[in-house]
Amino acid sequence: MIQENLNIVREHIKQACLRSGREEKDVTLICVSKTKPATDIHTAYENGERNFGENKVQEMTDKFQELPEDIHWHFIGHLQRNKVKYIIDKAYLIHSVESFRLAEQIEAEGTKHNVTANILIQVNVAQEETKFGLDRAEAVALVKAISVGLPHIRIKGLMTIAPFTEEPEENRIYFRQLRELSEEIAKLNLNHVEMKELSMGMTGDYMTAIEEGATLVRIGTGIFGNRAYLNRQ
Ligand SMILES: *Cc1c(COP(=O)(O)O)cnc(C)c1O
Repeated sequence: MIQENLNIVREHIKQACLRSGREEKDVTLICVSKTKPATDIHTAYENGERNFGENKVQEMTDKFQELPEDIHWHFIGHLQRNKVKYIIDKAYLIHSVESFRLAEQIEAEGTKHNVTANILIQVNVAQEETKFGLDRAEAVALVKAISVGLPHIRIKGLMTIAPFTEEPEENRIYFRQLRELSEEIAKLNLNHVEMKELSMGMTGDYMTAIEEGATLVRIGTGIFGNRAYLNRQ
């Protein structure tokens, strides 16, 4: 099941790259394994996958202990400041930075652990009230503030969670807006800021996201099947 799903997803990524004249190597698949057991991750790992996404600190650190060392763990959930210390040396990339206060905590823990943290700025391009993330102006301001003030942080790009929709075309505008914002920020040539990554696209809309420039797609259901939240411990 997981293997077949992976084959389908990889084929879709390939097709979206072909359609938009992009190279497959420029798109990284992040297998979103939240709520799923380590055995599922192992299956994907045995199939060659190395990038996994989690949205809960405890769950990510548990899986980090249990699974192979060469996995890149992507933290994609809302991050509380008091939990930064648990993931600072485990997360390959933190996708969800959306305040200077959180960035300051990452800086403090980075200093303590002697690591530089790779992060993305989460932008709520669709301006959905239920979602975390900054508007465009706030995102630009945050990038500038981190760039001048927080030397243990490297900003690698932007992330967005587009609205849930049955119709992926409806999200194209948001993916495009995120790419445009990233191009704008890149032009500022800020220290420690490299607008290389665009984390956008999930199971329902990743092909559209790739056509609009996604470099990191976050896919859960399309690989591991539906999540059963009710039985979570
Ligand atoms: C759960 C989650 C995903 C994956 O969603 P699917 O629709 O299952 O592919 C992607 N990004 C974030 C931030 C998530 O929380």
